[in-house]
Amino acid sequence: MSSKKQISVGGLKIGGGADISVQTMTNTNTEDIKSTIQQINQATELGCDLIRVSCPTPASTIALKEIIKNSQIPIIADIHFNYKRAIESIESGAACVRINPGNTPESGIKEIIKAAKDNNVAIRIGINSGSIENDILEKYKEPSVDAIVESAVLNCKKLEDLDFQNFKISVKSSDVQTSIEAYRKLSQLIDYPLHLGITESGTLFPGTIKSAIGIGSLLADGIGDTIRVSLSSDISDEIKVGKQILKSLNLLKDCINIVSCPTCSRTLIDVIEISRDLEEYCESINKSLKISVLGCVVNGIGEAAEADIGVFGFKKGIAKLYIKGKEFKTIEESEIFSILKELIDEF
Ligand code: SF4
Repeated sequence: MSSKKQISVGGLKIGGGADISVQTMTNTNTEDIKSTIQQINQATELGCDLIRVSCPTPASTIALKEIIKNSQIPIIADIHFNYKRAIESIESGAACVRINPGNTPESGIKEIIKAAKDNNVAIRIGINSGSIENDILEKYKEPSVDAIVESAVLNCKKLEDLDFQNFKISVKSSDVQTSIEAYRKLSQLIDYPLHLGITESGTLFPGTIKSAIGIGSLLADGIGDTIRVSLSSDISDEIKVGKQILKSLNLLKDCINIVSCPTCSRTLIDVIEISRDLEEYCESINKSLKISVLGCVVNGIGEAAEADIGVFGFKKGIAKLYIKGKEFKTIEESEIFSILKELIDEF
């Protein structure tokens, strides 16, 4: 149930059955061009598909030009309150502009849409509980799910009335249930691509769980076209978590899926360390592979039979190596990681 409408953000297709894209946001000072480009390049290497850069000042929208020139992925300018920054960002070459119509005057919206049309730039409408229109808030008494959804539909209509359809929309909340319900309702009412996220979800551990539940539930229902995990952590964590959510739902192509057991008293090899090293090694390798690392034969044989590469503890410090479901050889525990690396490179 991905949106039927498809938009293009700097050539990247969003919605209409396109692959779900992962995005994040830089946290450097945008005017510090060098650091911002460096962060964007790091994010790109980790598999980020598009990235948002905040542009709060005229100097930042000027810097954006140079940043865009040096980025391999499309850039979304986040302008929040000042519509003039949106126009400047579009002139600097942004592929998309994130606006919050509730905080933008009507005349400003008109100007932004004109500039977006003239330059073939997409828009993300970002609705959150703090930007709901006063009359809607009065009607619902609080920023409830229905209030968020009504505001979202109203703002889609505003853009449609300006004869503009090149947009996606988000209705994020920091509350997981509210977000899930809002996106579910909205997906029944509009057909524009949805940008999913649980906003301000906290630090790495709780934020990962909240995001996995919120974004994951929606994606599992077929709702959502692009995702951003918001963490109080390094932006590389946001991309890794986003990619892992997609991977867990088999929505990520060309990735390495590592199956490893939780270990128990029967464990014959150091599954935890091997799996961690492996995960780190595979982080930015784009290959479609399933690898299993299990502590003993109990589930080891079954998982190895279904994996491209499988190892499991056979005796204390000794493992069996399977390739494409077939027993290949017996190896020492100390050589497992290096053999796995070689095989991954060869595959
Ligand atoms: Fe324990 Fe073996 Fe299961 Fe791992 S595969 S959890 S070592 S029984």
